[in-house]
Order: sequence, then C-alpha cells, then structure tokens
Amino acid sequence: MQHRSIAIDGPSGAGKSTLARRLAQALGYLYVDTGAIYRTVGLAAYREQIPLEEEAVARLLPSLDIKMCYGEDGLQHMFLHGEDVTEAIRQHEVSDYTSTVSAFPAVRSFLLDMQRRLAREQDVIMDGRDIGTVVLPQADLKIFLTASPQARARRRCLELRQRGQQADEGQVLRDVLERDRRDMERESAPLRQSDDAVVVDTTQKDLEESFAVMLALIRRTLNIEEGHSHV
Ligand code: C5P
Repeated sequence: MQHRSIAIDGPSGAGKSTLARRLAQALGYLYVDTGAIYRTVGLAAYREQIPLEEEAVARLLPSLDIKMCYGEDGLQHMFLHGEDVTEAIRQHEVSDYTSTVSAFPAVRSFLLDMQRRLAREQDVIMDGRDIGTVVLPQADLKIFLTASPQARARRRCLELRQRGQQADEGQVLRDVLERDRRDMERESAPLRQSDDAVVVDTTQKDLEESFAVMLALIRRTLNIEEGHSHV
C-alpha cells in the first residue's frame, strides 16, 4: 500500500514541530522531526569540536551511530551512540553548529535515505526545510509554515524561559535572522517554498487557530472525513 505523506517546511520558530506533532496525533500518522536528526549530527560535531569544514564533518559521518525511536510519551527520541540526546540537541550552541553542518551536501545526502525510508514505511507528517522540495517531492500535501521574524523570536524566548534558560529578545531575534539567512542562502537544499506548497502564516494566529486551519486543509486535500484517523 502506498503511504500518505505530508511535508511541512518553514523557518525556525514558525510552530512546525508543535503543530506537526499534534496533527500527526489527530490523524494517526507518524511525526518525523527532521531538525532533530540534523541536530544529532550537529551535536556529534560539537562534542568532538570538529572544525566546521565539509571535509572534516564528512569524515565523521560514517562513524556516527544515530537512531531514533518513539517513546511511550509518543515523542521522537534521538540516540547518539546509544545515549538518549533528545534534550542535549536543544542547546543553543548545538543549534548554531547544526545550521552550519546542515549546509554541507555530504551531511544532507547522508541523512536523505533515512528520511525517505521512514516515509516509505508509514503515513508521515515530516517537518524540516527541504521536505517538499527534496526529500518528499511527491508528498500528498506540502505546507509552508511561516511567521514574521519578530513573532518567531518572541515564541523562541518564551520557550527558552519555560525551560529555565535566560533569553534576551534582541539577541534571539538576531539569532533567528542569522539562522534564516544560513538556511535560505546555502547552496545545498536551501529553505524555500515549493511551488505547489500551501502557505500558512501563523504571525496572527495562536496555536489552536493554526492547528484548526491546518487540520481542515489536510482533511480537505487528502479527503479524510472528520472522525477518521486514516483514509
Ligand atoms: O527544525 P530545527 O530548528 O530543529 O532545525 C535545526 C537546524 O537543522 C535548522 O536551522 C537547519 O539548519 C537544519 N535543518 C535542515 N534541514 C531540515 C531540518 C533542519 O537543514 N530538513
């Protein structure tokens, strides 16, 4: 049976992971957070203090043992050499390292198969930067989820403070803009809106509104009746 796939791309802080996770739950699909997979490579490079050059990072890749699994909480856990690094990959320094190593074609092709295999094996909602353009160009629905940089920085600050970390709004906004620039300007699989993607802008929408808009869009496009988790 051909599995269904929904691609959600967009800049960081637009609400991709929170919304994709909830949508996957509502539909009975598997949620795949590809940012977490890239972050695991970023963490490995960060821990080993690998110079941020493609050759050096490419040499590291074959030795990496990266696995993911879904806990009873339904969350996607990432493992690096057997250690659960789900929390560790969220550190600020790792975000920076990740957006640099993600630009290297060697890293992107290393992770491409893993992502495509997941979509072959089950119905998925996958979020990232190049899901609709590169990883799953045949996805049943592509959503480009975005919001103004200011709104995204505000949300990122709240998230950091909720985790007990300090956050300066001006600095977080600068970081958001810098990561956008790196993700959009890189040569290999840059963040860009696929021509056939539907744009959802969450600047003026809270989580509930965004969720409702996206769920309705998915049901309409994939012909899923309300109350049915699968088609
Ligand atoms: O989505 P998240 O912010 O966790 O992703 C972390 C970084 O990983 C992004 O800034 C981006 O550089 C990279 N990434 C990517 N391609 C993806 C997912 C994430 O390049 N599909």
